[in-house]
Amino acid sequence: MPDSFGAQPAADLATAPPPASHQAAALQARALDARLRHASPQEILKGVIEAFPGQIALVSSFGTESAVLLHMVAQIDPATPVLFLDTGQLFGQTLDYRKSLAKTLGLTDVRDLRPEFQDLAVHDPKADLWKTSTDACCQIRKVLPLDKALGGFDAWITGRKRYHGGSRLSLPVVEASEGKIKVNPLANWTKVELDGYMTAHDLPAHPLAAFGYPSVGCWPCTSAVEEEGDVRSGRWAGSDKTECGIHTPRPNTIVSIDGDVGGDI
Ligand code: SF4
Repeated sequence: MPDSFGAQPAADLATAPPPASHQAAALQARALDARLRHASPQEILKGVIEAFPGQIALVSSFGTESAVLLHMVAQIDPATPVLFLDTGQLFGQTLDYRKSLAKTLGLTDVRDLRPEFQDLAVHDPKADLWKTSTDACCQIRKVLPLDKALGGFDAWITGRKRYHGGSRLSLPVVEASEGKIKVNPLANWTKVELDGYMTAHDLPAHPLAAFGYPSVGCWPCTSAVEEEGDVRSGRWAGSDKTECGIHTPRPNTIVSIDGDVGGDI
């Protein structure tokens, strides 16, 4: 029975079968989205963590807005796997924040995903591939490590939000991606709500937030922005690139009824 938010109780979601194919995942995602699209982020997280026991991971960049979702997950189950893409090109401040925040929140299973040594040796031996091909660099340092890690899960959680604009304006709460369920609990939230949650729970800010970085990725591809700038305008500034590729349909994708909405973590 749906609650006052139109959300299905977690007990009902717990009967959801694991996706056996891209088509099955797409259908399951559509059903979950219908049940959860108006639920609160906490209700969404509780529902999907219970629906996919041991089979769901949170993918976090430990960026400027990441503490909100990490805190919510820690409150529900601090042993939930958290996948962190340590690209080898991150700011030192992000690496420090990843360690301190995980400890503060009591998260017990944060996994650092790193590029394959062989891929770096062959394609990016000088660590400067970003100068000539940001897409190839992201493929080696983000897409391939994440795909490999997600192989052990049926579902994953992202921190994307509609207020970021662009292709994210149509972001669903639950979608299908590469035969897996992808959940965006903060899709409906605004910057005001995020800031309010940070304050209410006294969550530590990313060290670069105070220096004009509303969104933080790798150091070669992240710039500070003017106060009135779009939240993601400092990512790959000066180029057409707006996403790293982890949310882009891979070659040989069979079907995606609801489609992937671009962007990075
Ligand atoms: S964001 Fe830049 S440095 Fe990081 S993986 Fe992508 S292209 Fe490479």
